[in-house]
Amino acid sequence: MSKIIAAAAIRGAHKIVQKAEKKLAETVAQKGRDCPVEFPNTGYYLPIIYSMTGIPVKTLGDCFKILEMAKGMLPPVPEERHWLPYLGHALDAGMATLFAEEVLEGCKYLIGPHPVEGIWLGAADDVIMRERGIEFVDGTAPGFAAIVGAAPDADTAVKIARELQQKNLYVFMSANTHGVSFAEQLTSKGVQLGWKTRLVPFGKDITATVYSLGFANRAALAFGAVKPGDFRRNLLYNKNRIFAFVMALGEVDDEKYANAAGAINYGFPTIADTDIPEILPTGVCTYEHVVSQIPHDRIVDKAIEVRGLKISIHKIDIPVPYGPAFEGERIRKEDMYVELGGPGAPGFEFVVMKDTHEITDGKITMVGPDLEEFKEGTAIPAGIYIEVAGRKMQKDFEPILERQIHRFIGEAQGIFHMGQRDQIRHRISKEGFKAGLRLRHVGTIIHAKFHEEYGAIVDKVQVTIYTNKAEVEKRLGEVHRAFAERDERILGMNDESVNLFYSCTLCQSFAPTHLCVISPERSGLCGSVSWLDGKASFEINPRGPNQPIEKGKVIDENIGQWEGVNRFLLENSRHKVERVSMYSMIADPMTSCGCFECISVLLPMCNGIMTVHRDFTEMTPCGMKFSTLAGSVGGGLQCPGFSGHSKFFIGSRKFMAADGGMQRLVWMPKELKEEVGHFIEKRAKELGLEDFLNKIADETTATTEEEVLAYMQQVNHPALSMAPLI
Ligand code: SF4
Ligand code: ZN
Repeated sequence: MSKIIAAAAIRGAHKIVQKAEKKLAETVAQKGRDCPVEFPNTGYYLPIIYSMTGIPVKTLGDCFKILEMAKGMLPPVPEERHWLPYLGHALDAGMATLFAEEVLEGCKYLIGPHPVEGIWLGAADDVIMRERGIEFVDGTAPGFAAIVGAAPDADTAVKIARELQQKNLYVFMSANTHGVSFAEQLTSKGVQLGWKTRLVPFGKDITATVYSLGFANRAALAFGAVKPGDFRRNLLYNKNRIFAFVMALGEVDDEKYANAAGAINYGFPTIADTDIPEILPTGVCTYEHVVSQIPHDRIVDKAIEVRGLKISIHKIDIPVPYGPAFEGERIRKEDMYVELGGPGAPGFEFVVMKDTHEITDGKITMVGPDLEEFKEGTAIPAGIYIEVAGRKMQKDFEPILERQIHRFIGEAQGIFHMGQRDQIRHRISKEGFKAGLRLRHVGTIIHAKFHEEYGAIVDKVQVTIYTNKAEVEKRLGEVHRAFAERDERILGMNDESVNLFYSCTLCQSFAPTHLCVISPERSGLCGSVSWLDGKASFEINPRGPNQPIEKGKVIDENIGQWEGVNRFLLENSRHKVERVSMYSMIADPMTSCGCFECISVLLPMCNGIMTVHRDFTEMTPCGMKFSTLAGSVGGGLQCPGFSGHSKFFIGSRKFMAADGGMQRLVWMPKELKEEVGHFIEKRAKELGLEDFLNKIADETTATTEEEVLAYMQQVNHPALSMAPLI
């Protein structure tokens, strides 16, 4: 590291540590030493400190220890004319900076200015971290760009952001240049910020940079099986697995240098647009540490080159940008050119299998006018009719392909995909229309993506788009009949009617002993892999994560154990898990990785089960929040009394059938009740239970186990008269 930078970084670190000491003193004066300090809804405490030192900071009192440590790591401020012998000093200063900044941001949550304000999001909670962090593991997102400062003008900011989005990178934003921030530049141009668009505004102060780096640390803990305190492995994981870099825009002051030095510890280089001393190869980072004076039209490419990112972009021939970052983009009514489907306009999207001689690959036909002939702001009739053929194609794969349309066309900037089947309401933006986007491009996208991702089963794809109302209605008859047939076929399937279950080992990348066993009546616990999906995925990729499991001889039909399943499990869990009961959460329950949509927990006093879903962040009657539960249930262990599962499973005939089934459900968050209410009511009817949905308590009627019991007595919940659970 050049001596000038090292000196600046060390000076910056001293300043930040002093600021943190002052803030901590103020906070203690107002709140007392015992006041809890935390980033909201996380099991990782102050995550950089926790992952580097293993110390769980819980109270303001604990912060003193941390600042003492930080001070101990600070090298003396060097005189300008002294050489610093090695990079180590600046790296220590960088780490001290990050510790101090976490303390400072933690204090801000207590006495303000609150980190979540206006466009600023503050720390990511564990829900977001699991949801988004997994994308860094499975490669959907190669990494992130931490943008510090601001571009010279808003248009340049938008250009840089769009370029990063197209490369599938997350853009984390913090700090400002003379009071202007990159995030504000984007909003001034109407760009949508948030986790969904991968443009994440953390905070306007330089100290908010810790949210980017802390996110990287947590990913290593959660997905890399790195232990808290094992700083070496944590940093190595980040260097090797998370492709991140700092993009410093505008003047780089001492405090920004200090943060850049912090990032170098992770192997994240800094790319700057201004003239700052460069630090060329190499040491901690894979490539250069600091590269300066890069013009804005080359800065994204340069950053990617320096960090050594390999990005594969499949170019689809449409006039708007395309990639996963655009999937989360919503199009508001004011920004919409037209809506496909919606009030008064019939619409559908439908995939149907054909014989190979019946269709022509790549043929895209419009029946009715394209967009330019419709009036702005209206809802237009739209039928997206997709015919596919392939030697390995099966009728059962139709709904699976159909479900991909959401992602495939949603990833085009300017198209907002909502709904499915005959309930579509997609929007085309004015901006997209102006850029030349037309409905026939929907056909282009579907053709390209079906081939790219489903080439193993699909040889030919032909797309017809209907916008003529009479024609759409005519087609709807056929489409409705097909949907009805499909539903019957799936409902007719149960665990007894098949000989094969399917495995899913996708999550072994971070929970090496976990395996989902997927049956027709129990989908994968993340909710995104059904038995049919497993079957299709095996056909598409016979060496992939979903393998057929021969059930074999029955051990116990009631709890759902088979010899074949147990054997498969043992062999595919690194010999760690011997038995699984598909239908019990008490005897040999299935393991959980971390992506469960819901967790069910035994409530002994109530003789029942509570079920909480991921979006519910409040306390639950079992005394733990979802995030805490997830931390103890996940990771590939069997935890009797706890079970991670999909939402779909709640309404299944097999839902904890060995433990008494759905009648045991005594508490759920209101939101979840609403979402899966129709399943529950249907199943309750089969069981002859009256008004069952209303007998399940929720947070509006009970927040503790005692209150749940009181509610059960009041409504005469059936679990009260069932055999004891334990
Ligand atoms: Fe597969 Fe289960 Fe992970 Fe879902 S949770 S991806 S089904 S292993
Ligand atoms: Zn998982």
